Formats: sequence, C-alpha cells, structure tokens
Amino acid sequence: MTPEFDLPLVILRTNRKKTVSIEVTPSNIKVSAPKRLSHRVITDFITERSRWIEKNVQLQLAQPKQIPRTWTDGEMFAYLGQEYALNVTRKSADMVEIGEGSLNVAIPFGTLELDEKNTVKSLVLAWYKQKATKTLTAKSFCYSKLLKVEPTSVRVREYKSQWGSCSVSGVISYDWRIIMAPLKVVDYLVVHELAHLLEHNHSQKYWKHVETTIPNFREQQSWLKLNARMLTI
Ligand SMILES: [Zn+2]
Repeated sequence: MTPEFDLPLVILRTNRKKTVSIEVTPSNIKVSAPKRLSHRVITDFITERSRWIEKNVQLQLAQPKQIPRTWTDGEMFAYLGQEYALNVTRKSADMVEIGEGSLNVAIPFGTLELDEKNTVKSLVLAWYKQKATKTLTAKSFCYSKLLKVEPTSVRVREYKSQWGSCSVSGVISYDWRIIMAPLKVVDYLVVHELAHLLEHNHSQKYWKHVETTIPNFREQQSWLKLNARMLTI
C-alpha cells in the first residue's frame, strides 16, 4: 500500500528516466519513474522515503501561500531585504524610485484606467531587473578581484529552480529576483558562482574558497533556503 501524505501523490511515467525521483512541490508530491518499473517497486520506494517526503510536505505546507499581486497602493515589495509599500501616482513621465518605506511608481497621465495595473507591473519588473543587473555586475567585479578570477561575462535572467549558474566557459548568470534578498545574501550568491570558476563542483576545496571570502556563508545559505519562496513577484 502507498503511504498517505497531506499533499496528493502524482506518479509520472517517463521514458527518460532510469531511476525513481521524488520532488515535493507546493501543490503535490511528484514521483517520476521509468515506464517499465512495476507499481510495487515504486510503492516500496515511496514507503522507504516516506519520512523524507513527510518532512518536505510539512515544510511546503508551513510556507505562506502566495497571494496574486494586485499592483495597487499599499502592496508590499521586497528590495535588498527591506519591505516597501507600493505608491502609485500619475505624472508626465513614468518613474520608479525607492522612497522612505515606499516604492514610488509614477505612470504617465494618459494611461487608461484599464491599463493601469499592467503599466505598474511592467515598470516595477523593469526597475527590479535594472537594479539587479547594476548590483550584480558591480558585486561580481569586486569579488572577482578578491577571488582572482575572471568571468567572461555576467548576465541576469530568470531561473525556475536555482539562483545562479557558472558555465564552463566562465559565464556567470544570476536570477534577478535575488535583489529582493538582503545584501549579505546577494554577496553570498555572487561568491558562490564566482568560486565555481576555481572549482566547477561543490567539493570541500570549493567550499573553502567560499568560506575564506564569506566566513559566515552558511547563515546566508540557510536564509536563502528558508526564504526562497518570498523572493518572488
Ligand atoms: Zn554551486
């Protein structure tokens, strides 16, 4: 018998896999298994991992549910670890800036009521990406001097399930949403990716490089793990 959990169990049969894998998402427990594997073997595997699954289900359930954005006054936005309340006004030209506890967004006078939310959304997203690019580029420059490495380029993009990457050719990429996290966490991510230019793995030697640059990196690492779901729009 398959054990029961507080989230629905979804078994996906795939040709691409040779082994069974389990992923606990906010809405279900996804089990991917090779097409030919018997149901019995899969059930046994789930039973064997039930404690791990249960632990992760409870972690998911404990996370605050994400409420869809309304893009209206008073809605909170995180930037470098601080929360700012959205404040929308109308001016002759569009503008986004941080005020005292507020994220001030000006949309052009002529904006139709109907387009207001979308206009605010695209302005805020563009602002975040611009801030992220500026900060992450500058940080990468500073820390690459410290680590004595030379990334071929620094890019900012959006990832599904990671915060950054370092390619074999030396391209460093970051998810722009990290700009919502405290600066210490941003620093850790930058050092994490740059240190991969020294070691393309997560070996002890690799972590030593990270630790030398950021002695309390484990704190930032666990902050990121715990708050990952908050860093979203
Ligand atoms: Zn890594």
